Amino acid sequence: MSGANGRFAAVFFDLDGTLVSERSGVREARTAVGARLIELGLYRKPASAFADTVETVIGGIMEDNDWQWPLWLHAEEWMKRSLAVEEIAVGEDEFRELNQVYRDERSDRAAAIAGWPEVLSAARTHGPIGLITNFNDGSMQREKIRGAGLEGQFNGVYISGEVGLWKPEPGIFEHAARDLDVDPRDCVHIGNSIQSDVEGALSAGMQAVLVEEDDRPRPPGLNGDVVWCADLLGVASWLEGG
Ligand SMILES: [Mg+2]
Repeated sequence: MSGANGRFAAVFFDLDGTLVSERSGVREARTAVGARLIELGLYRKPASAFADTVETVIGGIMEDNDWQWPLWLHAEEWMKRSLAVEEIAVGEDEFRELNQVYRDERSDRAAAIAGWPEVLSAARTHGPIGLITNFNDGSMQREKIRGAGLEGQFNGVYISGEVGLWKPEPGIFEHAARDLDVDPRDCVHIGNSIQSDVEGALSAGMQAVLVEEDDRPRPPGLNGDVVWCADLLGVASWLEGG
């Protein structure tokens, strides 16, 4: 069953870098972890130096993985590695607290990307709206959705850590479509990652739309069936049939 617009039975979105800015509060959240380490008497450098260490650690991992964010690279993992680089030993409770500081800062600073009201209202002319997001920690994604003011906008929220399937596995797209009672082949998925979003959606038989937060041209070699939009307003007008 499709909505009034008739083109798609349901519209799915990725979250990070698609509807919620990847730039909002990341540096600040890492610096806040450094500040808490200083308060705990465990760190003698400026708080921003810890953020620098995290960036170096993540940069090294990204380089080893062809600049793709590996699915196992959760906050707990880069936190552990960054603490090791700084030779800071923490107990279990402190480690949990540091992760909580990071989560709180990220969700407090989560910001929706410009054009989100337009794209969601264009999506609603087709049918239900779903969110499909890769993240191990469902509660943090939900806090981010709340922090960005997007709570209540979706008919279904599918978080990898909760579903047990990860993009680009077709299974998570199929699971989401089944939950909204639609055929994946009648759906569109909109996201900012060629690997997770575009390849995943295509493998599940969905139309794929690539949208990037960073102002970049259409990637050369992108599958010709994929719709590319410079920003969310571009996606909104494509959804409206323009
Ligand atoms: Mg993304």
